[in-house]
Amino acid sequence: MGCKAANLPFVYLGVPVGANMNLKRNWKPVIDKAPNSVIDLLEKIRRRFLWGGTDEKNKIRWVAWKHVLADKELDGLGVCSLKSLNIALLYKWIWRLKSENSPLWKQVICGIHNLSRKPIYNLSKRSIPGVWNNLISISRILGEMGLDFYHFISTKIGSGRNTLFWLDNWIGDGNLALRFPNLYALDKRKSCFLAERFSSNGFLWAWRKNPSLPVEMEKLAQLCRLLDGVTLSSDPNSWKSKLSSDGQFYVRDIRKLINSKVTVGTNSTTVWVNLVPLKIICFVWRASLDGIPSSMDLSRRGVGVASTRCLFCINGVDVMDHLLIACDLAKEVFKWIFKWCDVPFVSFSSVSEALNFAAKWGNCPKKKEGLSCHIVRRSVVYLEGPE
Ligand SMILES: [Zn+2]
Repeated sequence: MGCKAANLPFVYLGVPVGANMNLKRNWKPVIDKAPNSVIDLLEKIRRRFLWGGTDEKNKIRWVAWKHVLADKELDGLGVCSLKSLNIALLYKWIWRLKSENSPLWKQVICGIHNLSRKPIYNLSKRSIPGVWNNLISISRILGEMGLDFYHFISTKIGSGRNTLFWLDNWIGDGNLALRFPNLYALDKRKSCFLAERFSSNGFLWAWRKNPSLPVEMEKLAQLCRLLDGVTLSSDPNSWKSKLSSDGQFYVRDIRKLINSKVTVGTNSTTVWVNLVPLKIICFVWRASLDGIPSSMDLSRRGVGVASTRCLFCINGVDVMDHLLIACDLAKEVFKWIFKWCDVPFVSFSSVSEALNFAAKWGNCPKKKEGLSCHIVRRSVVYLEGPE
C-alpha cells in the first residue's frame, strides 16, 4: 500500500500510543489536553483527599476549596487550581506557535487555518475540529476572567516581516487595531506586515478612504508620533512574554495570574512567615478563615459533642475567637508574648485582628515577622501541649 512501517510507541492525535504509562513523562501530553470535566473530577479527588475523605465517606471540609487553591501571597494555601495549570499549559502552545521559527507542526497548523496573515486567535476554519480549535477556546475562557488572551505576548521588532502591523502587539500596550479603531477601519490592507509599511520614501499607508474627519486626523497624528522612532533591522523577529522580567515565557507566571482569577484570595495579612513551623502556620491559616473544629462548630455541623463550653474558663463558649483570643488563658499567653517582644500590651477581639496587628506593627520586617511568629506559636501551644 506504500505505507511506511513504524514502531511503538508513536503519538496519535497528540497522545502517546504504546508508551510505558508507568513513566511520568508519558502522561504529560494527556494532562496538557485534559478536558474540563476531567479537570473537575481530579479537583474533586484532591478536595476529598485533603480533608481525609474516601469514596464511601465524606469528611467535613473546614475551609472552602477556593481558599485552599489560592496562592500564598493572596493568603491561600497555595495548592493551585488544576484548571489554572491546564489553561497555562495550553497557553504555552500559543507561545510556541508565536515564538518558534517554523517547525513542521507550526507549518501544518498555519496552513490549515491560513494563519500566515492572521493573529492566531482568528483560526479561520472553525468547522475543522481538533486540538487547535479547542486550544483557541482559551481566549474565550480568559476573556470571561477579564484577561486579554493576546496581551501577554509581544514582539521585539526585527525585520518586521512576520509582525502584523495592526493586529500583533509590537509597540506600546495592546495592538494598534484596538487602540486606533477609526484608522483600522479605513485601512484596506488590515493584515499587512510591519515591513510592508516601511519604504525608503517614508511610511506607506493604504487607505480605503483618506482620514479626513477631525477625530481621524487627530488619531493619525498620534499614530505617526508613535511610529516616529521605529526602525527595522535585519534581525529576525523575536517574541517576549510580558509576564516575566527577562521576557521568557514561564508557565508559572500565567498560571499564577489565572489562579488569582479562579480562586478567592484576599489581599489581607498573609500568615505565611518563614519562622513558623508548617504545621502551626497551617493551623493559623485555618483559624484566619474560621476553619477550626471548635466544639460549637462541630455541634453546628451535627456532630455530637459533650459540651460547647470552654475547657479553660467558666464563662466562655468553645468557638475559635474565644479559644485563641478572648479566653482568660489566651489573654495570659498574649501578655507573655508582648512581654517577650517588648511591645506594649494590646487587647484583641479576633484572630484576624491579632494577625493584622502583628503584620502592621513597627517598621522593621524582622521584628514584625518575629511578633507574628510568637503570636502564632504561643496561641497554639496551649492547645497542643508544651513545645
Ligand atoms: Zn475560655
